[in-house]
This record gives sequence, structure tokens and C-alpha cells, in this order.
Amino acid sequence: NARNTRLGRCEIFDAEHHRGLVTRLRLERTLREAFEAGDMCVHFQPEVDLASGRWVAAEALLRWRDGEGRCRAAREFIDIIEGCGLIVPIGRWMLHEACRMARQWPLRDGRGPKLRVNLSARQFAQASLVEDVVAALAASGLQPGRLCLELTESALLPDVDAAAQTLTRLRDLGVCVALDDFGTGYSSLAYLKRLPIDVIKLDQSFIGGLPDDPYDLAIVQAVAGLARKTGVDIVAEGVETEAQAHTLRECGVVRAQGYLFSRPVDHETLLRGFAVA
Ligand code: C2E
Ligand code: MG
Ligand code: MG
Ligand code: MG
Repeated sequence: NARNTRLGRCEIFDAEHHRGLVTRLRLERTLREAFEAGDMCVHFQPEVDLASGRWVAAEALLRWRDGEGRCRAAREFIDIIEGCGLIVPIGRWMLHEACRMARQWPLRDGRGPKLRVNLSARQFAQASLVEDVVAALAASGLQPGRLCLELTESALLPDVDAAAQTLTRLRDLGVCVALDDFGTGYSSLAYLKRLPIDVIKLDQSFIGGLPDDPYDLAIVQAVAGLARKTGVDIVAEGVETEAQAHTLRECGVVRAQGYLFSRPVDHETLLRGFAVA
């Protein structure tokens, strides 16, 4: 009888597992069809200069208009499209779209805002990555120096030497490289030392506790000092309050991104913002 019970449990577990799998497969299909139907779009979140408030860059963020017409943020479905590999064609499309749009951004003194595009580990591992970047730049006419690719540790982790080679090839094109979600991985400092990184984006988990949390404050001060001394640029992510922005300025962080300044917006809204900010 004990055996039957165990079998029973096993069946229940399997049924749940199966349901989870079916849900996931259905979602993958929905997302693939949405991409093919043109229901994915690019939104942008500006990055500001903390001293002047000017919008100096913008990050492209993937959005999905679902069946009910709601705009879904990347965090709601990015794991699914990464898991099934759909991130590769979608990421390539994002890169092309975002470069094409960034080409329309207004220049100031001959220089335009930087475009930041996220790359997932799967994309970074593609043998065609560098050619994809070259193609997107050529098709859009965007100056390579205006494009910055954001990577997380997970993209660099599998093979640091191969990652260094790819990053060097990208840098040789004139494209810049940012380490995203800095401080959340296992060896952010080691990567900073071994890889050609231009920008670190300090993860929002260290910003939320400012100015009161002594650990967050110490981390922000330390990373800002590190950035200053190594000549790497630093951008704070997820800034939501004026008090946080104030503390960042005091720590010597000059650039930030977050709901305090702007939520991610569609391209038209971004263009209007560039005109005034
Ligand atoms: P990320 O690159 O670290 O992007 C920042 C995320 O934080 C965005 O979420 C943004 O909407 C959100 N955020 C910005 N400011 C604030 C704030 O003040 N408070 C809070 N709570 N959140 C804020 P989103 O758009 O859902 O993107 C989530 C992640 O999905 C991104 O994290 C990035 O890793 C990935 N992702 C987004 N678009 C793409 C893409 O085109 N390709 C790839 N490979 N990954 C993408
Ligand atoms: Mg990012
Ligand atoms: Mg981030
Ligand atoms: Mg993130």
C-alpha cells in the first residue's frame, strides 16, 4: 500500500510537471507567433546626466503587445524566449530596429545620445554576433561609437577567454561595452579586471536602500571610487527617489537611469523628451 501511495504521489507530481511544460510550450508558441506578427516592439528608457538632468543615452528594452493589447515588459517573458532560443532572432531584430531609430535622435554639437542594447548569453555566443552588429550599423548608418552593448556575467561566464576576444572585436569596431547588473554576479570584479569594459551599470538592488542603508551606501561609494580610478564609466540603475539621486551625486556617480527620471517609453515619446531634455 505504501508503494501505491508513492506511485500516487509520483503521478500527481508528473501531472503538475506536465501541465507546467504544456503551459510553457504554449507560451513559447504565442511569443513566436507574436514576433512573426509584428507584436514585439522596442521601448527606450533614457539615462540622465545627474548634474544637468540632460538625457545622454537611452536603453532599448523589448516589449510585447499581448492578445489583449497590453504592453508586457521584458521581465515577464525574457526567460521564456531565452530558454527556447527565440532570443536570437528577436535580439537581432531589436539591434536593427534600435540602431535605425537611434539614427533619428537629435545631435548636439555633432554628438548624439548613446544607444544601449542588451545582449543575452545566447546572442553573445552566436558565431555571427560581430557580423550582426556590423550589419545593423551599416543598415542604419549609426556611428559605431554611439552603440553600447550591455552584457551580464552570464554571457561572459562560460568562456572568459572567448568573451575577451569577442569584446575586443566589438571594441575594434568602435562599439562600447557595458557590464549590466554590476555587483549581482559571482565575480564582477574579476571580469572588470580581465575584460575590456567601458561602462558598469550598478544594479538597482544597491540603489533601493540609499541613503539610509549603510551597506548600500558603502557599496555605491566603493564602486564609484573603483570606476573613477580605473577610468570606467558608471551608471546607476533603478533610481526612484530624489534622495537616491542626491546621494549618488555625492558619491561622484554622474549618470543614472530610473523611474525618477523616466519610465521606459515608446520611441515617439523618447524623441519628444530629447527635444526638451
Ligand atoms: P536590465 O537591462 O537591467 O533593464 C532594466 C530593467 O529595470 C527594465 O526592466 C526596466 O524597465 C527596469 N527599471 C528601470 N528603471 C527602474 C526603476 O526605477 N525601478 C524599477 N523597479 N525598475 C526599473 P524590463 O524592461 O522588464 O527588462 C528586464 C530585463 O530584461 C532587462 O534588465 C534585460 O536584462 C532584459 N531585456 C530587456 N530587453 C532586452 C532585449 O532586447 N534583449 C535582451 N537580451 N534582454 C533584454
Ligand atoms: Mg540593461
Ligand atoms: Mg540592469
Ligand atoms: Mg537586469
